[in-house]
Amino acid sequence: MTPPILYIVVPCYNEEAVLPVTSGMFREKLRQLTESGKIAEESRVLFVNDGSKDRTWEIITELSRQDEHFQGIAQSRNRGHQNAVLAGLMEAMDRCDITISIDCDGQDDIDAMDRMIEEYEGGCDIVYGVRAKRDTDTAFKRATAQGFYKLLNAMGAEVVYNHADYRLMSSRALHEFAKFREVNLYLRGMVPMVGFRSACVAYDRRERLAGESHYPLRKMLALAFNGITSLSVKPIRLITFAGFFISILSFIGIIWALITAATGHSVAGWASTACIVCFIGGIQALFLGVIGEYIGKIYLEVKDRPRYIISDRTAEMDAEKEMR
Ligand code: UDP
Ligand code: MG
Repeated sequence: MTPPILYIVVPCYNEEAVLPVTSGMFREKLRQLTESGKIAEESRVLFVNDGSKDRTWEIITELSRQDEHFQGIAQSRNRGHQNAVLAGLMEAMDRCDITISIDCDGQDDIDAMDRMIEEYEGGCDIVYGVRAKRDTDTAFKRATAQGFYKLLNAMGAEVVYNHADYRLMSSRALHEFAKFREVNLYLRGMVPMVGFRSACVAYDRRERLAGESHYPLRKMLALAFNGITSLSVKPIRLITFAGFFISILSFIGIIWALITAATGHSVAGWASTACIVCFIGGIQALFLGVIGEYIGKIYLEVKDRPRYIISDRTAEMDAEKEMR
């Protein structure tokens, strides 16, 4: 069997501090895998510049001039990590047999790729990289990340525990994945829906080699919320249940009010009335908000805007584009 062509897809946003270090690591990995006959010589590292404001794109184009194993595409503006990964995967899928998406900050253990490829050879189309432990994360990040998975699963979004976006996907799985046309992207929740045989490979997550995390708590919460509302309608169902529960409470309240009125004790009712009005008002606003969130998503889906726009490509990516 001829070895598969691998494209390592690496999203980069303002990563001038780490790229010079990690690009060498990716290149070394390609060399190792090629020499051991696990992947074909035509394999590439495909950087996706996500509208960086620093010298990231210059570094990528310079790398590709020095070594054809480095290629790059640039999004026309910053669209976020998920869109950047998608752009890279879609560009790669017709050029290779397998892709591995990985962050460019060196946190994910590159050596797990060997085992991922073994799983692929063993017949898996999707291999999830799963963090074995989170020693290097702060206790706070660890706790919030754990809460994040629990919340997602409780809300009906099935995600692989401790899996971020370090994963191998075969070209076949990607072609099926390309048919998922939604613009509200949540890759780690969408990929399992593709199906096929899959496996998990555990790896240790390290500290960022340089630069800063782009995922502070605020963005993590937004990602969790986005994940839930993109993948599941459970929150709406919960609202229905809550509405039912509140209706029962209200019914009891009405009976209580009628009894007190009938027995002539209904003088001092202001506080209870005010509490009920406030409570119902608050709950209604909250529920409308959640439903509005879904309507907003529908609005975005209906507009069907492109999920990524590529403004630049390095030479080889450009040439092949014209050939096709
Ligand atoms: N990233 C991106 N676009 C963004 C934010 C981040 O392409 O708008 C990339 C970033 O360059 C990195 C990966 O996504 O390769 C993960 O980001 P980061 O390391 O900041 O997140 P963390 O590992 O802290 O969750
Ligand atoms: Mg990181």
